[in-house]
Amino acid sequence: MSTKQVYLDNAASTPVDKRVLKEILPFFGEKYGNASSVHSSGREGMEAIQKAREKIAKAINAEPEEIIFTSSGTESNNLLIKGFARAGLEKEKHILTQKTEHDAVLHPIEELAKQGFETRVLEVDREGFFQMEEFEKEAGRAGLASIMHANNEIGTIYPIKKIGKICREKGTVFHTDAVQTVGKEKINVKKMKIDALSASAHKFYGPKGAGFLYLKEGIKIEGLMSGGGQERKLRPGTYNTQGIVGMGKALEIANKEMNNAKEKEKKMQKELAKRLMEIDDSWINGPKIGSKRLANNLSAGFEYVEGEAMLIKLDDYGIAASTGSACSSDSLKASHVLLGIGLRPRRAHGTLRFSLGKQNNIQDVKYVGEKMKKVVGELRNISPLKKGVIK
Ligand code: PLP
Repeated sequence: MSTKQVYLDNAASTPVDKRVLKEILPFFGEKYGNASSVHSSGREGMEAIQKAREKIAKAINAEPEEIIFTSSGTESNNLLIKGFARAGLEKEKHILTQKTEHDAVLHPIEELAKQGFETRVLEVDREGFFQMEEFEKEAGRAGLASIMHANNEIGTIYPIKKIGKICREKGTVFHTDAVQTVGKEKINVKKMKIDALSASAHKFYGPKGAGFLYLKEGIKIEGLMSGGGQERKLRPGTYNTQGIVGMGKALEIANKEMNNAKEKEKKMQKELAKRLMEIDDSWINGPKIGSKRLANNLSAGFEYVEGEAMLIKLDDYGIAASTGSACSSDSLKASHVLLGIGLRPRRAHGTLRFSLGKQNNIQDVKYVGEKMKKVVGELRNISPLKKGVIK
């Protein structure tokens, strides 16, 4: 195993920031009371939770009462989509979404379709964008539109402000899965006319097992679980005090350091793209590097080689990357995102996602570029596709 370790899988999960860890630790130790208890140990937990709620609300320009704590981005998406449908979405009104959404949005919508709700999934172009005129037309018939802020595999940043404006005009509730952008891109739910937003702490240097749903005041959803009265009964269960406290601190830090982190990531992204594109028969998936693409994302494909094989070889060099979204890494099906933007299955299978983080530096990406040339070269030497044995 290599002594050098380069982690370029930050879209799957990020390391917990040391300042966050420091803030969390007392809640694993002496501050263990249940935050719903009336004694001082409990109240201490609740106070910390409310402070985290205020920090999170401030970070996206929401009100503290509009934040619902959950366990993850997946749970936030499910709670909003299914909870909104159950709270009385008229069956003749559509649920509108688009093809490159995360499975945590697409699958709940597919379940609702089986239950008789009308759904509409917009097609996308090579960069992952749908036609705005089509969206506008469909939004008029939709009760709920769920469009992600940025794509986790190919980095496409959707024009959320424009989408929010259209939805508000049409009276359609607008939900955005912002798991890849909270703490990385500026979000102002009021200005962007967002009615609901999902986020997850482990994507912005917070702990795993903590997420939140922003739900604009007045929007009605039904909880998916029954139990205690936590989070206005919308999300019952004992508070994950340490997770919530960590999430609040992590988002406060991420928002403060956002511009610097982004500048650094942009430089690394450019350098990595340059080095990878020096390899023959390679390409970049998704939008050009620039304002329509996340600064920490690079999805690149290599003809004649297979993604999983590249990952195994990269791992020997201490490099962590991924083929698609972390959630589908145990499935050998080609990514629905890559197929959705029109890649042939063979090309989709030859794609890797490199996602940068604040712990990476320019030396790391130079190292990855160098090792990728080696890995692709070695695999092509034994590739039946390259030799023409398999067409
Ligand atoms: N939505 C997007 C866009 C994601 O990238 C992810 C995770 O990769 C999720 C939802 C799921 O989030 P979580 O891992 O917190 O369940």
